[in-house]
Amino acid sequence: MQKPSEILPGVYLVGSSEISNPGDCMVYLVDCKSELALIDAGVSVDINKICKNIKTADLNPEDISTLFITHSHIDHVGGAASFREKYGCKTVAHELDSEVLEKADPKLTGAVWYSQILIPCKVDVKLSGSEGKFPVGNKTLRWFHTPGHTPGSISILLSTSGGNILFAQDVHGPFMSEFRSNISEWAESMKKLVSLDFDVLAEGHFGIYRPRERAVEYIRSYLAQYGYT
Ligand SMILES: [Zn+2]
Ligand SMILES: [Zn+2]
Repeated sequence: MQKPSEILPGVYLVGSSEISNPGDCMVYLVDCKSELALIDAGVSVDINKICKNIKTADLNPEDISTLFITHSHIDHVGGAASFREKYGCKTVAHELDSEVLEKADPKLTGAVWYSQILIPCKVDVKLSGSEGKFPVGNKTLRWFHTPGHTPGSISILLSTSGGNILFAQDVHGPFMSEFRSNISEWAESMKKLVSLDFDVLAEGHFGIYRPRERAVEYIRSYLAQYGYT
């Protein structure tokens, strides 16, 4: 059974199907001292459980300044509008997944699969290109465009005093034309991820993989499953 927990110094698991809502992705929080960065927002407009978990970690949801959206599927963005409205945080997503969220497209966000209505959410910062750096408080998060599961999926790399953590979310797919998935782009993205310097993998639904060898093996197992070596 998962609990809200500190994964590495200043990095917390604050949401998941077990600790916040059965439909939630894994929701991660980074303590950037004066500010907090949230990575994904869970499935529901009701964000109370995630916020409670943040308080359990002795942090204040009011300090969330930045919400990174790894991709615009409802299990990752259902709470985005609530966080933005309640805490005034800026939302950050790749430009190729932004319109889907701003229009709350019921098919492309997967909302129809969840029989749920997504609240549209403005994307304040639209990332473009293949990678970049994004400062939040005393930390700098590096982002990488990792298309495949969706056209605008991103992964985020962060250095901590306990090692580097890679937030890669839906490594496992699925890949569907309804999501505009592209499996060969995904394979390239996964190869890019395994080349990065990280010690811990924070996955979108299956949790934490460490040490590095185990995390790389996890990613490679999906590549093999789809016929990529
Ligand atoms: Zn997804
Ligand atoms: Zn997901």
